[in-house]
Amino acid sequence: MAAAGILRNLKDVALRTIEGFAPELYQLNQQIWRKPELCYQEKYAHEVLTTFFKDKGFEVTKHYTLETAFRASSGSCGKRVVGLICEYDALPGIGHACGHNLIAEVGVGAALGIKAALEASNQDLGKVVVLGTPAEEGGGGKVKMIQNGCFDEVDFCLMAHPKSFSCVYPTCLAMQDVKVTFHGLSSHAAAFPWEGINALDAAVMAYSSLSVLRQQLRPTWRLHGIITNGGAKPNIIPDKTSMEYFVRAPTEGELNELREKVHRCFESAAQATGCTVDIEWNSVVYSNMATNEQLAVVYQKNAEELGLSFPSREEQAKATFGSTDMGNVSHIKPSIHPYFDIDTSVANHTRDFTEAAGRTEAHVRAITQAKVMALTALDILWNDQVWGLVVADFEKKHGKN
Ligand SMILES: [Zn+2]
Ligand SMILES: [Zn+2]
Repeated sequence: MAAAGILRNLKDVALRTIEGFAPELYQLNQQIWRKPELCYQEKYAHEVLTTFFKDKGFEVTKHYTLETAFRASSGSCGKRVVGLICEYDALPGIGHACGHNLIAEVGVGAALGIKAALEASNQDLGKVVVLGTPAEEGGGGKVKMIQNGCFDEVDFCLMAHPKSFSCVYPTCLAMQDVKVTFHGLSSHAAAFPWEGINALDAAVMAYSSLSVLRQQLRPTWRLHGIITNGGAKPNIIPDKTSMEYFVRAPTEGELNELREKVHRCFESAAQATGCTVDIEWNSVVYSNMATNEQLAVVYQKNAEELGLSFPSREEQAKATFGSTDMGNVSHIKPSIHPYFDIDTSVANHTRDFTEAAGRTEAHVRAITQAKVMALTALDILWNDQVWGLVVADFEKKHGKN
């Protein structure tokens, strides 16, 4: 049979397999959705996912360098190794408002399809490795797993994220968060206010300075925060207050520029009020998403073949400004992180999105994504020429190692 015919057959095996597992995949998605767990506490999701993979004949490593991370693989080393990502953490108070139950479903579904296709092939095409990556929402699970060497074995990485629209080239900003504590001196606020040093004044001045600074920021920069401790009682001059801020920019270089400006606002507020200040920048920095052009092209072609459509590239670039630790992965391996529409008009991180992410329609969309992911992986495993283009784009963006 001609090469194209063989690949088509393998793709059909993957599509049929994913469709066949759809009812089980729905159950898996629902189990995770019904029991939302916060970052690094995803014990239940870790258990159900690793059990599922074991049942389906994958080689499974539980607690893969992190308590709630895992690795599941199938196939021999072959030509290339595709990495698929499962996320499964939720948000405080509002459950699966980012729909990571669906990211897990897409990863598992795609892995089942690829495994079946690899087994149906009489060539040694490669291996599928699923990485269960905890704590995307602020914990930087992938950043830690990169440091632990978990991504070393894979050649390229695929994941898809639920949204209210479809997008192949999402703008995901580099991001860092900072925890700030102002230390003053308490005093009776009516009897001896002049003896106190007001740490709340420092927090409010910092908040105001940062809000003023916002006018001078580039349109693509983001700066937002809250006061997490504003004092204990109105009749006590607060001796300790705390704040938490996120700063974001399109590249790590611009992020450094923004960080210096923000840092000065905290220092000057301390100086003006006579407080001392602890400014703790998180050592985990989320990188911007560097979508691999060629992987994206293959993904889009497969998605369109399955009936999906996308806005123009310009519209996609303006779509949203989030951040993800998948960005860090994209700087070490060719990667994509497309968004898929789950038939809702509401934004992520809302209660309405939680509800949408649990619906059967979202599951149907996730199954389609699993198919697109599997087809994309098979194209890349199969076609040396396309793989050459993927590598060339990666090297152009990141320099040759
Ligand atoms: Zn999120
Ligand atoms: Zn998310």
